[in-house]
Amino acid sequence: MVDRERRLRPGGRAVRLTDAGTTVITRMGLLDRVREAALKPGRGVALVDTFGRITASTPPTDYDALDVPHGDLVRILQQATAPKVTYILGDGIADLEQDAGGVTATFGKAAPRRFDLVVGADGPHSPVRSLVAGPGAEMAGAHFQPAGLHWATFTAVEEINLDGWSQIHHAPGLTAMAREGRGPGEVKVALCFRTRSLSFDPHDNAGHHDLLAERFAKVRWQVPYLLRAMRAAPDFRFASLGRVRLDRWSYGRVVLLGDAAHCPSPLKHAGTDLAVAGAYVLAGELAAADHRSAYTGYEHFLRPHAELAQRQPPGGVASLVPTTALGVHLRTAVMRWTRYGPVRDLIAARDARGSQIPLPDYNLPGRGLRAAAA
Ligand SMILES: Cc1cc2nc3c(=O)[nH]c(=O)nc-3n(C[C@H](O)[C@H](O)[C@H](O)COP(=O)(O)OP(=O)(O)OC[C@H]3O[C@@H](n4cnc5c(N)ncnc54)[C@H](O)[C@@H]3O)c2cc1C
Repeated sequence: MVDRERRLRPGGRAVRLTDAGTTVITRMGLLDRVREAALKPGRGVALVDTFGRITASTPPTDYDALDVPHGDLVRILQQATAPKVTYILGDGIADLEQDAGGVTATFGKAAPRRFDLVVGADGPHSPVRSLVAGPGAEMAGAHFQPAGLHWATFTAVEEINLDGWSQIHHAPGLTAMAREGRGPGEVKVALCFRTRSLSFDPHDNAGHHDLLAERFAKVRWQVPYLLRAMRAAPDFRFASLGRVRLDRWSYGRVVLLGDAAHCPSPLKHAGTDLAVAGAYVLAGELAAADHRSAYTGYEHFLRPHAELAQRQPPGGVASLVPTTALGVHLRTAVMRWTRYGPVRDLIAARDARGSQIPLPDYNLPGRGLRAAAA
């Protein structure tokens, strides 16, 4: 397993495990540890005005969902797999050469190695995807379709009283969100804004801080505190969000997994469920058959679920980041309306449909394949 991060950092953005993801975690015997790492569900979501007054609120639609800091979930999975998996951190795959008998992987730093199979699980801008599906595929264009949404996440330690709510403050074209983290005074923050196109260096955090400070300079509520905390946050991350659409997920002995293959709509919170469920199905199929049949079985099973998660929910990106003052009022009105019984049930049923993936039971011995994953 190779990852460009030099060390696995705890914390980070909260990612959501619902039906499918929780089933896999349970089958791995890790549910208690993941539950321990999860954030408290809280009272639900509240929209707040400039003065922090709640203008609309809704209770959680899925009480069983687990929102877990990304780094903590990665740590739990890494600890569970460490006895059988070699982790190479601070490196990446630079080239792949396939022949009938296997794949030779060239790394940025480590010596080249030969594998039976390679799994590209390196996120929505997957470099492995660009090696197998063609140059330029890792950024906008061929496979990555930007949503026109830029998103920063970080953990702040600030004395902000959220009173148990995930609070959201909208200004036209800008959204700030904060919810309680696990540690004392800890707040998980997301700042998003809309823009048609924006070129930025993905590694330049100081540049991202300046950009966000400029965009959010006139926004009040708790934003001035959050902007200050942002610069000191160790888990700050900034990304352009979008969807990945591919007409196939495997290329010879190389297969794509998770966001690299099918990054869903950023409004669906389904990426982690799909990535975990996909890893489970891929492993199960590989234990049962040769890689060609296994890759076909994996894609055949998962693709309909991935495509469902790629559909934008009603209102699209504007439901998360309204661009006008009228849009902000409409969003508030819609949330007031959705707190009532039947509408809330409909939303809960719609959300559950995407995450209900009837996972097969694989009860097969492994076949001792040598596989590289990035
Ligand atoms: C800003 C942001 C906010 C999000 N918010 C939510 C949310 O609220 N709820 C939710 O459920 N999901 C959220 N997601 C989506 C969620 O994080 C993903 O869907 C999920 O993590 C998919 O898992 P993955 O393993 O496919 O990709 P990732 O978790 O992205 O993992 C990819 C891995 O590949 C590594 N990598 C990348 N490039 C290279 C390279 N060149 N060489 C080597 N390694 C590389 C990365 O370091 C990383 O460890 C968010 C994503 C982003 C970017």
